[in-house]
Amino acid sequence: MARPCTICGHPDRAEIDAALVAGASDAVVSKRFAASEQSTRRHRLNHVPTPDMQAGAAQVAAAERQHGMTLTEIATGLRNKAISILRRAETAGDLGPVDKQLRRHSGLGRIV
Ligand SMILES: [Zn+2]
Repeated sequence: MARPCTICGHPDRAEIDAALVAGASDAVVSKRFAASEQSTRRHRLNHVPTPDMQAGAAQVAAAERQHGMTLTEIATGLRNKAISILRRAETAGDLGPVDKQLRRHSGLGRIV
């Protein structure tokens, strides 16, 4: 069983993460917060979000605020709409308009 990360459990974790994200070296951070350099390095590599991950999380949070729903709720709603459209098309025996309808309701037209 893997050992728990000592930096994740450190009382100053938020400050440590902020220093690492700001670009402070493992040596400087470990010295400042009385942690081992090896633990700091392992934490930075495995538990500190990269700028790309932080940007992605910010985009998700913005979308959730805009829609007043979580991303899961948004995806579930889109899935349910797609299934409803598909069932109506199957019942009507005409799948031709399904592609157009799915693109309209899912926003896929903007992505693809
Ligand atoms: Zn950690």
